[in-house]
Amino acid sequence: MGVKRVEVVDVPEPRILNSQDVIIRVTSTAICGSDLHLYNGYVPTMEKGDILGHEFMGEVVVRGSGVKKVKVGDRVVVPFPIACGVCNSCQHQLYSLCENTNPNAWIAEKLWGHSPAGLFGYSHMLGGYAGGQAEFVRVPFADVGPIKVPDDLPDEKVLFLSDILPTGWMGAEMCNIKPGDIIAVWGAGPVGLLAMQSALLMGAERVIAIDRFPYRLRKAREHMGLECINYGETDVREALDVMTGGRGPDACIDAVGMEAHFPAPLGLYDKAKQAVRLETDRPSALRQAIMACRNGGIVSVIGVYGGLIDKFPMGSVMNRSLTIRSGQTHVHRYLKPLLDRIRKGELDPSFVISHRMRLDQAPEAFDLFLNKQDDCVKVVLSPNGRAAA
Ligand SMILES: [Zn+2]
Ligand SMILES: [Zn+2]
Repeated sequence: MGVKRVEVVDVPEPRILNSQDVIIRVTSTAICGSDLHLYNGYVPTMEKGDILGHEFMGEVVVRGSGVKKVKVGDRVVVPFPIACGVCNSCQHQLYSLCENTNPNAWIAEKLWGHSPAGLFGYSHMLGGYAGGQAEFVRVPFADVGPIKVPDDLPDEKVLFLSDILPTGWMGAEMCNIKPGDIIAVWGAGPVGLLAMQSALLMGAERVIAIDRFPYRLRKAREHMGLECINYGETDVREALDVMTGGRGPDACIDAVGMEAHFPAPLGLYDKAKQAVRLETDRPSALRQAIMACRNGGIVSVIGVYGGLIDKFPMGSVMNRSLTIRSGQTHVHRYLKPLLDRIRKGELDPSFVISHRMRLDQAPEAFDLFLNKQDDCVKVVLSPNGRAAA
């Protein structure tokens, strides 16, 4: 409804608009760190009344006449990017870059040169699709996106296939992890924690968690036994140099994005420039990740950025042969392999959940998550007050 204003209101139920649509009755949905960028007003082209939410799952209740793979009654998880499955990008498995799903591509082209795919509940610039923090949602290209999940897996174990699990996974995958590698991850929020878990599964020897909230670092330490740096207390560069014999981590993951915090004076500089819109994003985690990375290493950026940043250390990137990799997650690629790992018990992303609330408590939930109250790491909302079994 406006900056830092979320309300729960009755809206008309979604209808089938295209033969390849389905309508889903949502059983569980989550608030994402990237929803906070919308909530805080840093993503342009949001309109009053837009329905948020890109992490959701539920039961198919209406099926368009052209849909073949999913049936009414199927329990599905839906990827946050919307992909057609047949365009050039989709054929190369670059699903978050689908060329057919952003009807407002022209806006994104102005800002970014070319447009990525449309996303659920993520501004008009990215398609203006109604999101899944709702009782019902329309899902286009239903034969391409949604994955059917087995009845014996509870919502909490599979819901995060929609975004944060594949996002953390892709963040680690982009690091080309080899045995013996040391990976540092900025941000011990839900995506950062899942990137850490993924890096361990991919064979990293050491994973280092960086955050300023002790309760988040505790999750990294207690759940995964990781080394932690609290950047509120410790100089990160120095600490990483000491921990890596002066060389720096082999790869650095930025799981923070455009609203990074940083001690003064540079932190204040970014806050001031962003406030007067001289830069759109505060890139202090990214800058630090670049500077800390070992020569020839990889910086993997999965935190969300919107526009322009300042004081970008390109000299460090160029002279030290760094590789920067990034992207909105190509979720569709990872659905089946990650679901298989969940089924086998190799992965259980539900450890990030700190709060379970009813959908009608969304305003309170956004506030809690934004202000890191009550040790909030991840909120799952369900319309019935309880996730379906
Ligand atoms: Zn998300
Ligand atoms: Zn496509």
